[in-house]
Amino acid sequence: MWRGVVGRLLRSGGAGGPRAASGSAVAQLRRRLESELEDIRGAGTWKSERIIASRQGPHLRLAGGGAGILNFCANNYLGLSSHPEVIRAAVEALEKFGAGLSSVRFICGTQSIHKDLEEKISHFHQREDAILYASCFDANAGIFEALLTPEDAVLSDELNHASIIDGIRLCKANKYRYKHMDMQDLEVKLQEAQKHRLRLVATDGAFSMDGDIAPLREICQLAQKYDALVFIDECHATGFLGPNGRGTDELLGVMDKVTIINSTLGKALGGAAGGYTTGPKPLIDLLRQRSRPYLFSNSLPPAVVGCASKALDLLMESNAIAQSMAAKTQRFRSKMTAAGFTISGKDHPICPVMLGDARLAAVMAEDMLNRGIYVIGFSYPVVPKGKARIRVQISAVHSDEDIDRCVEAFTEVGQKHGALH
Ligand code: PLP
Repeated sequence: MWRGVVGRLLRSGGAGGPRAASGSAVAQLRRRLESELEDIRGAGTWKSERIIASRQGPHLRLAGGGAGILNFCANNYLGLSSHPEVIRAAVEALEKFGAGLSSVRFICGTQSIHKDLEEKISHFHQREDAILYASCFDANAGIFEALLTPEDAVLSDELNHASIIDGIRLCKANKYRYKHMDMQDLEVKLQEAQKHRLRLVATDGAFSMDGDIAPLREICQLAQKYDALVFIDECHATGFLGPNGRGTDELLGVMDKVTIINSTLGKALGGAAGGYTTGPKPLIDLLRQRSRPYLFSNSLPPAVVGCASKALDLLMESNAIAQSMAAKTQRFRSKMTAAGFTISGKDHPICPVMLGDARLAAVMAEDMLNRGIYVIGFSYPVVPKGKARIRVQISAVHSDEDIDRCVEAFTEVGQKHGALH
Protein backbone atom coordinates (compact mmCIF):
# COMPACT_ATOMS: atom_id res chain seq x y z
CA MET A 1 0.00 0.00 0.00
CA TRP A 2 2.87 2.34 0.92
CA ARG A 3 4.48 1.72 -2.47
CA GLY A 4 1.13 2.45 -4.18
CA VAL A 5 0.60 5.73 -2.33
CA VAL A 6 4.18 6.88 -2.89
CA GLY A 7 4.03 5.85 -6.53
CA ARG A 8 0.82 7.82 -7.07
CA LEU A 9 2.23 10.87 -5.27
CA LEU A 10 5.42 10.78 -7.29
CA ARG A 11 3.53 10.30 -10.58
CA SER A 12 1.01 13.07 -9.83
CA GLY A 13 3.78 15.52 -8.86
CA GLY A 14 4.95 16.61 -12.34
CA ALA A 15 7.24 19.63 -12.55
CA GLY A 16 6.79 22.67 -10.31
CA GLY A 17 3.93 23.58 -7.93
CA PRO A 18 3.00 22.30 -4.49
CA ARG A 19 2.52 18.72 -5.70
CA ALA A 20 6.14 18.54 -6.86
CA ALA A 21 7.24 19.85 -3.48
CA SER A 22 5.25 17.19 -1.65
CA GLY A 23 6.44 14.51 -4.12
CA SER A 24 10.06 15.36 -3.45
CA ALA A 25 9.45 15.39 0.30
CA VAL A 26 8.02 11.89 0.03
CA ALA A 27 10.97 10.74 -2.08
CA GLN A 28 13.35 12.22 0.49
CA LEU A 29 11.48 10.55 3.32
CA ARG A 30 11.54 7.25 1.46
CA ARG A 31 15.32 7.44 0.99
CA ARG A 32 15.81 8.25 4.66
CA LEU A 33 13.57 5.41 5.81
CA GLU A 34 15.26 2.93 3.51
CA SER A 35 18.67 3.92 4.79
CA GLU A 36 17.45 3.60 8.39
CA LEU A 37 16.03 0.14 7.65
CA GLU A 38 19.33 -0.83 6.03
CA ASP A 39 21.17 0.27 9.20
CA ILE A 40 18.91 -1.96 11.31
CA ARG A 41 19.58 -4.92 9.00
CA GLY A 42 23.31 -4.13 9.01
CA ALA A 43 23.39 -4.02 12.81
CA GLY A 44 21.88 -7.51 12.90
CA THR A 45 18.94 -6.30 15.03
CA TRP A 46 16.18 -6.81 12.46
CA LYS A 47 13.12 -8.40 14.04
CA SER A 48 11.21 -10.67 11.70
CA GLU A 49 7.84 -12.14 12.53
CA ARG A 50 7.00 -15.81 12.18
CA ILE A 51 3.43 -16.35 11.08
CA ILE A 52 1.39 -18.72 13.22
CA ALA A 53 -1.47 -20.51 11.50
CA SER A 54 -3.03 -22.01 14.64
CA ARG A 55 -4.19 -20.90 18.10
CA GLN A 56 -1.66 -19.80 20.69
CA GLY A 57 -0.56 -22.81 22.71
CA PRO A 58 2.25 -25.25 23.48
CA HIS A 59 1.95 -26.80 20.00
CA LEU A 60 1.81 -24.52 16.99
CA ARG A 61 1.40 -24.73 13.26
CA LEU A 62 3.42 -22.16 11.35
CA ALA A 63 2.17 -20.72 8.06
CA GLY A 64 3.60 -22.54 5.05
CA GLY A 65 4.11 -25.88 6.85
CA GLY A 66 5.81 -26.41 10.19
CA ALA A 67 3.11 -28.34 12.08
CA GLY A 68 3.66 -29.67 15.61
CA ILE A 69 6.15 -26.98 16.57
CA LEU A 70 6.73 -26.85 20.33
CA ASN A 71 6.31 -23.30 21.48
CA PHE A 72 8.53 -21.94 24.28
CA CYS A 73 8.34 -18.21 23.67
CA ALA A 74 4.86 -16.95 24.56
CA ASN A 75 3.82 -15.20 27.77
CA ASN A 76 1.00 -17.74 27.98
CA TYR A 77 2.25 -18.79 31.43
CA LEU A 78 -0.93 -20.49 32.55
CA GLY A 79 -2.03 -21.75 29.15
CA LEU A 80 -5.27 -19.77 29.35
CA SER A 81 -4.96 -18.17 25.89
CA SER A 82 -6.75 -21.14 24.34
CA HIS A 83 -8.51 -22.51 27.41
CA PRO A 84 -11.98 -23.76 26.34
CA GLU A 85 -13.79 -21.94 29.17
CA VAL A 86 -11.97 -18.69 28.42
CA ILE A 87 -12.90 -18.95 24.74
CA ARG A 88 -16.53 -19.77 25.60
CA ALA A 89 -16.71 -16.73 27.92
CA ALA A 90 -15.40 -14.54 25.11
CA VAL A 91 -18.02 -15.86 22.66
CA GLU A 92 -20.81 -15.32 25.20
CA ALA A 93 -19.67 -11.76 25.91
CA LEU A 94 -19.41 -11.08 22.18
CA GLU A 95 -22.95 -12.30 21.57
CA LYS A 96 -24.48 -10.55 24.55
CA PHE A 97 -22.56 -7.26 24.51
CA GLY A 98 -21.52 -6.90 20.86
CA ALA A 99 -18.25 -6.45 19.02
CA GLY A 100 -17.27 -3.18 20.62
CA LEU A 101 -18.38 0.09 22.12
CA SER A 102 -17.42 2.63 19.45
CA SER A 103 -16.71 4.93 22.34
CA VAL A 104 -14.39 5.79 25.17
CA ARG A 105 -15.49 4.83 28.66
CA PHE A 106 -16.81 8.20 29.85
CA ILE A 107 -18.94 8.95 26.79
CA CYS A 108 -20.89 5.76 26.22
CA GLY A 109 -18.36 2.98 26.56
CA THR A 110 -18.96 1.53 30.02
CA GLN A 111 -20.89 -1.72 30.22
CA SER A 112 -21.72 -3.75 33.30
CA ILE A 113 -18.97 -6.23 32.37
CA HIS A 114 -16.32 -3.49 32.52
CA LYS A 115 -17.40 -2.55 36.04
CA ASP A 116 -17.59 -6.23 37.05
CA LEU A 117 -14.08 -6.89 35.76
CA GLU A 118 -12.68 -3.85 37.58
CA GLU A 119 -14.25 -5.09 40.79
CA LYS A 120 -12.87 -8.59 40.23
CA ILE A 121 -9.36 -7.23 39.62
CA SER A 122 -9.35 -5.12 42.79
CA HIS A 123 -10.71 -8.08 44.77
CA PHE A 124 -8.01 -10.36 43.29
CA HIS A 125 -5.23 -7.96 44.30
CA GLN A 126 -6.96 -7.00 47.57
CA ARG A 127 -6.93 -3.32 46.62
CA GLU A 128 -9.63 -0.64 46.86
CA ASP A 129 -10.42 -0.13 43.18
CA ALA A 130 -9.19 -0.76 39.64
CA ILE A 131 -9.35 0.91 36.23
CA LEU A 132 -9.13 -0.86 32.86
CA TYR A 133 -7.03 0.22 29.89
CA ALA A 134 -6.59 -1.10 26.36
CA SER A 135 -3.16 -2.36 27.41
CA CYS A 136 -0.66 -2.21 30.25
CA PHE A 137 1.46 -0.04 27.97
CA ASP A 138 -1.40 2.47 28.21
CA ALA A 139 -1.73 2.00 31.98
CA ASN A 140 1.98 2.83 32.31
CA ALA A 141 1.65 5.76 29.89
CA GLY A 142 -1.21 7.20 31.93
CA ILE A 143 -0.30 6.89 35.55
CA PHE A 144 2.84 8.96 36.12
CA GLU A 145 1.62 12.07 34.33
CA ALA A 146 -1.72 11.97 36.13
CA LEU A 147 -0.19 11.39 39.55
CA LEU A 148 3.07 13.34 39.67
CA THR A 149 3.80 17.05 39.25
CA PRO A 150 7.08 19.04 39.10
CA GLU A 151 6.99 19.10 42.90
CA ASP A 152 7.29 15.30 43.06
CA ALA A 153 9.94 12.68 42.27
CA VAL A 154 9.96 9.27 40.64
CA LEU A 155 12.75 6.75 41.22
CA SER A 156 12.95 4.08 38.55
CA ASP A 157 15.02 0.87 38.18
CA GLU A 158 17.32 1.30 35.16
CA LEU A 159 16.04 -1.95 33.61
CA ASN A 160 12.34 -1.16 33.90
CA HIS A 161 10.14 -2.03 30.93
CA ALA A 162 10.04 0.44 28.02
CA SER A 163 6.44 1.39 28.83
CA ILE A 164 7.39 2.50 32.36
CA ILE A 165 10.28 4.49 30.93
CA ASP A 166 7.96 6.14 28.39
CA GLY A 167 5.30 6.81 31.03
CA ILE A 168 7.89 8.51 33.22
CA ARG A 169 9.13 10.56 30.25
CA LEU A 170 5.62 11.96 29.86
CA CYS A 171 5.41 13.28 33.41
CA LYS A 172 6.97 16.45 34.78
CA ALA A 173 8.23 14.99 38.06
CA ASN A 174 11.93 14.97 38.97
CA LYS A 175 13.47 11.76 37.65
CA TYR A 176 15.98 9.50 39.37
CA ARG A 177 17.24 6.23 37.89
CA TYR A 178 18.76 3.68 40.25
CA LYS A 179 21.03 0.78 39.27
CA HIS A 180 19.21 -2.49 38.60
CA MET A 181 17.95 -3.90 41.90
CA ASP A 182 20.74 -2.04 43.74
CA MET A 183 19.37 -1.06 47.14
CA GLN A 184 22.39 1.03 48.09
CA ASP A 185 21.93 3.14 45.00
CA LEU A 186 18.17 3.38 45.60
CA GLU A 187 18.87 4.64 49.14
CA VAL A 188 21.27 7.31 47.84
CA LYS A 189 18.64 8.44 45.31
CA LEU A 190 15.92 8.46 47.98
CA GLN A 191 18.11 10.69 50.15
CA GLU A 192 18.61 13.09 47.22
CA ALA A 193 14.88 13.04 46.54
CA GLN A 194 13.91 14.02 50.10
CA LYS A 195 13.58 17.63 48.97
CA HIS A 196 10.54 16.81 46.84
CA ARG A 197 6.92 16.70 48.01
CA LEU A 198 6.21 13.07 47.14
CA ARG A 199 8.48 10.17 46.13
CA LEU A 200 7.36 7.19 44.04
CA VAL A 201 9.63 4.16 43.58
CA ALA A 202 8.74 2.37 40.32
CA THR A 203 9.88 -1.13 39.47
CA ASP A 204 8.95 -4.18 37.45
CA GLY A 205 7.89 -6.92 39.88
CA ALA A 206 9.60 -9.52 37.67
CA PHE A 207 11.99 -8.45 34.91
CA SER A 208 11.17 -10.00 31.56
CA MET A 209 14.66 -10.28 30.09
CA ASP A 210 16.37 -11.91 33.09
CA GLY A 211 13.51 -13.62 34.92
CA ASP A 212 14.73 -11.97 38.13
CA ILE A 213 12.41 -10.67 40.83
CA ALA A 214 12.65 -7.19 42.35
CA PRO A 215 13.75 -7.18 46.02
CA LEU A 216 10.39 -5.81 47.09
CA ARG A 217 10.88 -6.38 50.82
CA GLU A 218 13.98 -4.20 50.80
CA ILE A 219 12.37 -1.65 48.46
CA CYS A 220 9.36 -1.38 50.79
CA GLN A 221 11.63 -1.00 53.85
CA LEU A 222 13.50 1.84 52.16
CA ALA A 223 10.22 3.38 51.02
CA GLN A 224 9.01 3.34 54.61
CA LYS A 225 12.28 4.84 55.88
CA TYR A 226 12.17 7.69 53.34
CA ASP A 227 8.41 8.10 53.22
CA ALA A 228 7.96 7.02 49.61
CA LEU A 229 5.25 5.17 47.69
CA VAL A 230 5.90 1.92 45.80
CA PHE A 231 4.59 1.16 42.30
CA ILE A 232 5.07 -2.24 40.65
CA ASP A 233 4.45 -3.49 37.12
CA GLU A 234 3.24 -7.05 37.50
CA CYS A 235 2.92 -8.12 33.85
CA HIS A 236 5.24 -11.10 34.42
CA ALA A 237 3.85 -12.01 37.85
CA THR A 238 0.07 -11.61 37.96
CA GLY A 239 -1.73 -14.93 38.08
CA PHE A 240 1.20 -17.15 39.01
CA LEU A 241 3.72 -15.70 41.49
CA GLY A 242 2.95 -16.11 45.19
CA PRO A 243 0.97 -18.85 46.94
CA ASN A 244 -2.31 -17.69 45.34
CA GLY A 245 -0.89 -16.20 42.16
CA ARG A 246 -1.48 -12.62 43.31
CA GLY A 247 1.99 -11.58 42.24
CA THR A 248 5.37 -10.46 43.49
CA ASP A 249 3.92 -8.58 46.45
CA GLU A 250 2.24 -11.77 47.68
CA LEU A 251 5.35 -13.86 46.99
CA LEU A 252 7.47 -11.52 49.11
CA GLY A 253 4.86 -10.82 51.79
CA VAL A 254 4.43 -7.09 51.11
CA MET A 255 0.87 -6.88 49.79
CA ASP A 256 0.05 -4.19 52.34
CA LYS A 257 3.16 -2.13 51.51
CA VAL A 258 2.89 -1.74 47.73
CA THR A 259 0.55 1.13 46.91
CA ILE A 260 0.00 0.84 43.16
CA ILE A 261 -0.02 -2.13 40.78
CA ASN A 262 -0.16 -1.99 37.00
CA SER A 263 -0.57 -5.22 35.11
CA THR A 264 -1.74 -6.81 31.89
CA LEU A 265 -4.60 -9.02 30.81
CA GLY A 266 -2.53 -9.94 27.76
CA LYS A 267 -0.19 -12.51 29.27
CA ALA A 268 -1.20 -15.03 31.98
CA LEU A 269 -4.80 -13.75 32.30
CA GLY A 270 -6.15 -15.11 29.03
CA GLY A 271 -3.67 -13.41 26.77
CA ALA A 272 -6.09 -11.34 24.67
CA ALA A 273 -5.28 -7.71 25.50
CA GLY A 274 -5.91 -5.07 28.10
CA GLY A 275 -4.24 -3.69 31.19
CA TYR A 276 -5.14 -2.05 34.46
CA THR A 277 -4.11 -0.04 37.49
CA THR A 278 -5.27 -1.13 40.92
CA GLY A 279 -4.72 0.76 44.16
CA PRO A 280 -6.28 3.39 46.44
CA LYS A 281 -9.76 4.57 45.38
CA PRO A 282 -8.92 8.29 45.11
CA LEU A 283 -6.04 7.42 42.77
CA ILE A 284 -8.32 5.36 40.54
CA ASP A 285 -10.93 8.15 40.62
CA LEU A 286 -8.25 10.62 39.55
CA LEU A 287 -7.08 8.37 36.71
CA ARG A 288 -10.65 8.25 35.37
CA GLN A 289 -10.57 12.07 35.23
CA ARG A 290 -7.01 12.70 34.08
CA SER A 291 -5.34 9.68 32.52
CA ARG A 292 -4.99 10.39 28.82
CA PRO A 293 -4.85 6.83 27.42
CA TYR A 294 -8.06 6.12 29.40
CA LEU A 295 -9.86 9.31 28.39
CA PHE A 296 -8.91 9.28 24.73
CA SER A 297 -8.96 5.61 23.70
CA ASN A 298 -11.73 3.12 23.08
CA SER A 299 -13.21 0.81 25.73
CA LEU A 300 -12.00 -2.76 25.92
CA PRO A 301 -14.05 -4.98 23.55
CA PRO A 302 -16.56 -7.24 25.36
CA ALA A 303 -14.93 -10.47 24.13
CA VAL A 304 -11.63 -9.37 25.67
CA VAL A 305 -13.37 -8.49 28.93
CA GLY A 306 -15.06 -11.91 28.88
CA CYS A 307 -11.70 -13.71 28.49
CA ALA A 308 -10.01 -11.90 31.36
CA SER A 309 -12.98 -12.20 33.65
CA LYS A 310 -13.13 -15.99 33.15
CA ALA A 311 -9.35 -16.30 33.56
CA LEU A 312 -9.61 -14.57 36.95
CA ASP A 313 -12.50 -16.84 37.98
CA LEU A 314 -10.40 -19.90 37.16
CA LEU A 315 -7.46 -18.58 39.17
CA MET A 316 -9.58 -17.64 42.16
CA GLU A 317 -11.18 -21.12 42.20
CA SER A 318 -7.87 -22.96 42.44
CA ASN A 319 -4.13 -22.42 42.24
CA ALA A 320 -3.58 -25.84 40.62
CA ILE A 321 -2.69 -24.31 37.22
CA ALA A 322 -0.06 -22.01 38.75
CA GLN A 323 1.40 -24.90 40.74
CA SER A 324 1.62 -27.04 37.61
CA MET A 325 3.52 -24.24 35.86
CA ALA A 326 5.90 -23.89 38.82
CA ALA A 327 6.66 -27.65 38.75
CA LYS A 328 7.42 -27.55 35.02
CA THR A 329 9.61 -24.49 35.47
CA GLN A 330 11.56 -26.34 38.13
CA ARG A 331 11.92 -29.39 35.84
CA PHE A 332 13.26 -27.27 32.97
CA ARG A 333 15.65 -25.21 35.10
CA SER A 334 17.17 -28.18 36.91
CA LYS A 335 17.56 -30.36 33.78
CA MET A 336 19.12 -27.51 31.80
CA THR A 337 21.54 -26.69 34.62
CA ALA A 338 22.50 -30.37 34.90
CA ALA A 339 23.12 -30.41 31.12
CA GLY A 340 25.66 -27.60 31.53
CA PHE A 341 23.70 -24.44 30.69
CA THR A 342 23.50 -21.26 32.76
CA ILE A 343 19.92 -20.18 33.35
CA SER A 344 19.42 -16.66 34.65
CA GLY A 345 16.89 -15.77 37.39
CA LYS A 346 15.38 -18.09 39.97
CA ASP A 347 12.10 -20.05 40.00
CA HIS A 348 10.52 -17.83 37.33
CA PRO A 349 8.97 -19.32 34.14
CA ILE A 350 11.10 -16.89 32.16
CA CYS A 351 14.24 -19.01 31.80
CA PRO A 352 16.97 -17.13 29.89
CA VAL A 353 19.61 -19.55 28.58
CA MET A 354 22.71 -17.37 28.82
CA LEU A 355 25.06 -17.67 25.84
CA GLY A 356 26.94 -14.36 25.67
CA ASP A 357 27.57 -14.16 21.94
CA ALA A 358 24.81 -12.63 19.75
CA ARG A 359 25.55 -14.77 16.71
CA LEU A 360 25.60 -17.95 18.78
CA ALA A 361 22.18 -17.09 20.24
CA ALA A 362 20.72 -16.46 16.76
CA VAL A 363 22.22 -19.60 15.20
CA MET A 364 21.21 -21.81 18.11
CA ALA A 365 17.62 -20.48 18.05
CA GLU A 366 17.48 -21.30 14.32
CA ASP A 367 18.84 -24.81 14.95
CA MET A 368 16.25 -25.30 17.69
CA LEU A 369 13.47 -24.42 15.24
CA ASN A 370 14.90 -26.95 12.79
CA ARG A 371 14.36 -29.48 15.58
CA GLY A 372 10.76 -28.30 16.05
CA ILE A 373 11.33 -26.06 19.10
CA TYR A 374 10.32 -22.41 18.79
CA VAL A 375 12.54 -20.16 20.94
CA ILE A 376 13.93 -16.69 20.33
CA GLY A 377 17.44 -15.31 20.73
CA PHE A 378 17.87 -11.85 22.27
CA SER A 379 20.91 -9.70 21.82
CA TYR A 380 22.03 -6.06 22.05
CA PRO A 381 20.28 -3.54 22.20
CA VAL A 382 17.42 -5.55 23.79
CA VAL A 383 19.89 -6.92 26.37
CA PRO A 384 23.37 -5.57 27.28
CA LYS A 385 26.31 -6.28 24.91
CA GLY A 386 27.92 -9.66 25.56
CA LYS A 387 24.83 -10.96 27.35
CA ALA A 388 22.99 -12.55 24.43
CA ARG A 389 20.63 -15.35 25.35
CA ILE A 390 17.78 -17.52 24.24
CA ARG A 391 14.73 -16.79 26.34
CA VAL A 392 12.62 -19.84 27.12
CA GLN A 393 9.18 -19.38 28.66
CA ILE A 394 7.44 -22.24 30.41
CA SER A 395 3.68 -22.69 30.45
CA ALA A 396 1.36 -24.78 32.60
CA VAL A 397 0.16 -26.50 29.43
CA HIS A 398 3.58 -27.88 28.50
CA SER A 399 3.72 -31.56 29.31
CA ASP A 400 6.74 -33.11 31.04
CA GLU A 401 7.55 -34.71 27.66
CA ASP A 402 7.48 -31.26 25.99
CA ILE A 403 9.95 -29.97 28.59
CA ASP A 404 12.22 -33.00 28.14
CA ARG A 405 12.14 -32.66 24.35
CA CYS A 406 13.17 -29.02 24.67
CA VAL A 407 16.07 -29.89 27.01
CA GLU A 408 17.23 -32.69 24.67
CA ALA A 409 17.18 -30.35 21.67
CA PHE A 410 19.11 -27.69 23.61
CA THR A 411 21.68 -30.26 24.66
CA GLU A 412 22.22 -31.45 21.07
CA VAL A 413 22.41 -27.91 19.71
CA GLY A 414 24.59 -26.75 22.60
CA GLN A 415 27.04 -29.61 22.03
CA LYS A 416 27.16 -28.88 18.31
CA HIS A 417 28.11 -25.24 18.98
CA GLY A 418 30.34 -25.85 22.01
CA ALA A 419 28.00 -23.88 24.28
CA LEU A 420 27.93 -26.28 27.25
CA HIS A 421 30.21 -26.15 30.26
N1 PLP B 1 5.10 -4.02 31.24
C1 PLP B 1 5.87 -5.11 31.06
C2 PLP B 1 6.88 -5.47 32.12
C3 PLP B 1 5.75 -5.90 29.90
O1 PLP B 1 6.53 -6.98 29.71
C4 PLP B 1 4.78 -5.52 28.93
C5 PLP B 1 4.61 -6.29 27.69
O2 PLP B 1 5.50 -6.75 27.05
C6 PLP B 1 4.00 -4.39 29.17
C7 PLP B 1 4.18 -3.66 30.32
C8 PLP B 1 2.95 -3.98 28.20
O3 PLP B 1 1.83 -4.82 28.35
P1 PLP B 1 0.67 -4.83 27.27
O4 PLP B 1 1.02 -5.88 26.28
O5 PLP B 1 -0.58 -5.13 28.05
O6 PLP B 1 0.64 -3.47 26.67
